[in-house]
Amino acid sequence: LSQRIRAAVDKLRGRGRISEADLKTTLREIRMSLLEADVNFEVAKAFVNAVQEKALGAQVLESLTPAEQILTIVYEELVQTLGGEAKQPTLKSEGNLWFMVGLQGSGKTTTSGKLAAFYKAKGRRPLLVAADTQRPAAREQLRILGEKVGVPVLEVADGERPEVTARRLREHLTFDYRDLVIVDTAGRLQIDEALMGELAKLKEVLRPTETFLVIDAMTGQEALGVSRTFDERVGISGLILTKLDGDARGGAALSARYVTQKPIVFAGVSEKIEGLEPFYPDRLASRILGMGDLQTLLEKAKAVELEGPLKTPGEITLEDLITQMRQMRKMGSFADILKMIPGVSRALPPGFTVDEKAINRLEAIVLSMTREERRDPRILNASRRKRIAAGSGTSVQEVNRLIKTFEETKSMMKSLAKQKGRGAFRNPFG
Ligand code: GDP
Ligand code: MG
Repeated sequence: LSQRIRAAVDKLRGRGRISEADLKTTLREIRMSLLEADVNFEVAKAFVNAVQEKALGAQVLESLTPAEQILTIVYEELVQTLGGEAKQPTLKSEGNLWFMVGLQGSGKTTTSGKLAAFYKAKGRRPLLVAADTQRPAAREQLRILGEKVGVPVLEVADGERPEVTARRLREHLTFDYRDLVIVDTAGRLQIDEALMGELAKLKEVLRPTETFLVIDAMTGQEALGVSRTFDERVGISGLILTKLDGDARGGAALSARYVTQKPIVFAGVSEKIEGLEPFYPDRLASRILGMGDLQTLLEKAKAVELEGPLKTPGEITLEDLITQMRQMRKMGSFADILKMIPGVSRALPPGFTVDEKAINRLEAIVLSMTREERRDPRILNASRRKRIAAGSGTSVQEVNRLIKTFEETKSMMKSLAKQKGRGAFRNPFG
């Protein structure tokens, strides 16, 4: 998905204005790339129409190139389609009962265990219910998970009727107080009438406070039909997207969200118990666009406690860059960090790794500059560049490249920062 959109937008780069023909071509590319990412036809069409309307209505901003402007609109629209703000499930002080439904293999059982661990860590007292009345192995899987996270598991019997399950649950809760009950249900490989009926009946009897449809992010095109059917037949209140750690590019999320209009509340990001995160629409939108995951970067940065005064992107100097490079190095692999910075990730070739020696050379270049030069590289004329190259044991070309990259990064960050101060665009060096 991202590559096509990027290619389409890149074509517009460097042009002064967007013509209507340009916009049409770009929108067609965006639609194609959505379809390629397994977004349903209907969803792709609606998405592109919304982008078109906004692009035509948008004022031409001085601070942004047409390409940046379209990219921004596509980004904003993606965030909106994915739900806008991050949303967490409603939790009362007690009496919470969550119903987990979805196709077989989507990750219901695993996610039930993850949720139990997640809320137990927040001080809740969860109870897991293994309500698969057909597969003892499925119940055993949940029992093992429960033991692992230290949460009790109530198991239904083979073929147990919903009324019996409800009664046993009530009985259990009279001697073992629990404020969050998570009910893991049976799944089928495909949408199945009999199962829908059973789930609807169980739901009617148990009266859950939330019903989550668990969707494998790799489902692709199928996600639309699956979400629609579960919502119509069982009724859902939220979505949980699993296996986002795979190659999935977001097509399923877009479709499921579009057709149900229900919030995506959590994302599964690994097979492990701790592999569950609140779902952030802006993060997935950034990933889809290949802008990198700036929020994650910011959190990492916070963890290391970046020092120095706050700056606006326009005030960033080469000195800041070096300070940040040194600090970032403390955070881990330089390549990983770079990939999280919007714009930078786009510029990196696939399989990109960072040569730490090259970083040292960059550092040497900056250190060979005078304080004045570092603060304002515009004064760097040919003779100064020559002096710096000699002083740092590098070449004039390397010095030129560093300055060019720096200026480009700076101006990009400046224009991005102007966009409503959105979290995802906040200056990583500030
Ligand atoms: P269920 O049939 O819906 O209960 O699905 P399971 O919970 O049994 O999960 C099916 C498979 O998907 C298992 O191998 C899980 O380990 C795996 N799985 C579930 N969630 C995730 C996830 O977020 N990431 C990854 N990589 N694997 C997951
Ligand atoms: Mg299961």
